[in-house]
Amino acid sequence: MHKVSILFVTIFLLPIRVVLPEDAKTRFKIDSHYHYRNTADFIEKTVKEYRKYNTMACVLTPAEAIDKIKKAIEQYPGVFIGYGSIKLDDPQALEKIDRFYAAGFRGIGELSRPLKNFHNPRYFPIYERLQLYGMAALFHTGIVSRRNPDVPQYSSMDRMRPAYVDLIARRFPRLVIHTAHLGNPWYEEAAEALRWNPNLYSDVTGSSLLKKANHPEFWGEILWWRPSLATRHSPSGGDHAFGKIVFGTDEGPEGLLANIERFEKFLEANHVPEEVREKCWSGTFAKILGVTPGK
Ligand SMILES: [Zn+2]
Repeated sequence: MHKVSILFVTIFLLPIRVVLPEDAKTRFKIDSHYHYRNTADFIEKTVKEYRKYNTMACVLTPAEAIDKIKKAIEQYPGVFIGYGSIKLDDPQALEKIDRFYAAGFRGIGELSRPLKNFHNPRYFPIYERLQLYGMAALFHTGIVSRRNPDVPQYSSMDRMRPAYVDLIARRFPRLVIHTAHLGNPWYEEAAEALRWNPNLYSDVTGSSLLKKANHPEFWGEILWWRPSLATRHSPSGGDHAFGKIVFGTDEGPEGLLANIERFEKFLEANHVPEEVREKCWSGTFAKILGVTPGK
């Protein structure tokens, strides 16, 4: 056969390779927002479900469960990452942070329902301590549940505005902050705080992805900046807005798969490039928390 014909036949007989994005169920993931539950099978159920979907969990743990989670981390280092749960108004808060830090926990959260606004200087010693230890801080932002309607409360969404976290991020520039729920309903405020603070990230857990299920492009409208749009009114470095978003579930182990699917849909609908998706699923927090997949 003529050389040109051989080349022609070879090219056209090659199987067509379609490059598919790595499957969301099997790729390495970090659930950055996972609450401890005081049930007998919590560890076992988490290990089973999170291993199945190649996911590690930042488990937000109350002080009374430190030993239990410390043991779980030793036994399943590929599943659990320790986060300590404290109340900003607890007089023992600093002492508890010291204990969590000594136990090898990497972050604190979820900070929620404060009696004063998040950026009240009364809380600064807590943020100072977290910054000193290099522990990440997970702040609830926006609307919060009210599951016991008969119990009087002295907190509300208004004490947890994303703008308050903007001040904390600037005042404590080495503190890595993670806002939960992208400020629902103050999405725009939360997004703009993300844009200018290199030490600030957010998850989109809670009801937001359900609320906007039929309008997923909404997220691209508020998370609008792209490497190609660098101006003197944007931070340098050509960041992609979705690189500020991290995966989380804020649900029990039974909610993992549905949250993976929802988050994948959110990324897909907004045409987020693969290198940015990798950061969202795990890359950002793997780097911050010093986590290696499978270790
Ligand atoms: Zn929350």
